[in-house]
Amino acid sequence: MQENQTAAAIPMRRECVRAQVGTVAIGDGAPIVVQSMTNTDTVDIARTVQQVKALADAGSELVRITVNTAEAAAVVAAIRERLDILGCEVPLVGDFHYNGHQLLTDYPECAKALAKYRINPGNVGFGGKRDSRFSTMIEVALRYQKPVRIGVNWGSLDQALMARLMDENAASTRPRPADVVMREALVVSALEGAERAQELGMRPQDIILSCKVSGVQDLIAVYRELARRCIYPLHLGLTEAGMGHKGVVASTAAMSVLLNEGIGDTIRVSLTPKPGGDRTEEVLVAQQILQALELRAFSPQVTACPGCGRTTSTLFQELADDIQGFLRHKMPFWRRLYPGVESLSVAVMGCIVNGPGESKQADIGISLPGSGENLSAPVFEDGKKTITLSGEGIAEAFKERLEQYVERRYGK
Ligand code: SF4
Repeated sequence: MQENQTAAAIPMRRECVRAQVGTVAIGDGAPIVVQSMTNTDTVDIARTVQQVKALADAGSELVRITVNTAEAAAVVAAIRERLDILGCEVPLVGDFHYNGHQLLTDYPECAKALAKYRINPGNVGFGGKRDSRFSTMIEVALRYQKPVRIGVNWGSLDQALMARLMDENAASTRPRPADVVMREALVVSALEGAERAQELGMRPQDIILSCKVSGVQDLIAVYRELARRCIYPLHLGLTEAGMGHKGVVASTAAMSVLLNEGIGDTIRVSLTPKPGGDRTEEVLVAQQILQALELRAFSPQVTACPGCGRTTSTLFQELADDIQGFLRHKMPFWRRLYPGVESLSVAVMGCIVNGPGESKQADIGISLPGSGENLSAPVFEDGKKTITLSGEGIAEAFKERLEQYVERRYGK
């Protein structure tokens, strides 16, 4: 765990049982867990290890990998081993579809190396086969004492269940709209899966549920219902959120509403990276969502004004960017040396209009000169002006003050 939960828990979290995935607790008041998923071919051990480590280093507390073939299942234990050698203890979750029953049975080392299995009830087969395959996966989980996520997805919803609910709806005296039935089918699929797992001997605290859809309003409606009807920890995420701003905004919009209602015990932001893009982006976005909602603190926050006609030079954008980079660079050391530093707030403001006011609100802030103002920059620490910087070296001098402030406030 890389941070402390903020003292003011806003809002009250929904009550549920607590699951343990390797070293990571999920639910029942535990800090909301950030997780992610690799997009490497799992068989490529070197690249998969590298990406898992990058995701973990960025702050992902669980990392899911695809286990889709015998070749992939055969290398999972080696991936675990290499991560351990690198000192990367992040628990690995196996993502199974269609053949999970076979792979988990044929590759016991894979089953042992994983900390959790993701089972999609819509993708385990049809009719009698579905029940026996599902049972096999649960039996393996019980054998190795692993929790499972019963993860329903709109794109692979159990069609037999959907047809059954549609028929029941058509026969009812007050039929509901098709999208309402679809949402109900997602919830029922997850709940029936959990019920079946419990019938097979699984404890409620070894079951995590998810019902992922790609529409913001659908996600909110489905999770509210799921939260109301069960006591399992919930894995929250908007599936196929998309690329760039669209993916970030849609995920944030959907998850923020739910998290603010206390719903969600672990989150994943499913962003589509640009070709060659950085996979760790999804981890940073997830952390930002939790930190913006004041549910967790991961790294100091920089408040910077957007700039306007009063900031005709690039001085303040450069300083804001410089400070962000400085904090990122320092955090791995500061986190160890200065407990609590992740909740530090820093302001970098562009002119006298809001600069002093905003800087006073932050733990430490600087108000740079706008166009036509005197070339001086007052620094505020804990609401009081402590020094006025001027000249070429404002950036370096402010970073020095920042470092001194952190040492003074968070040092032993
Ligand atoms: S603080 Fe000054 S520079 Fe920044 S947006 Fe406000 S008026 Fe513009």
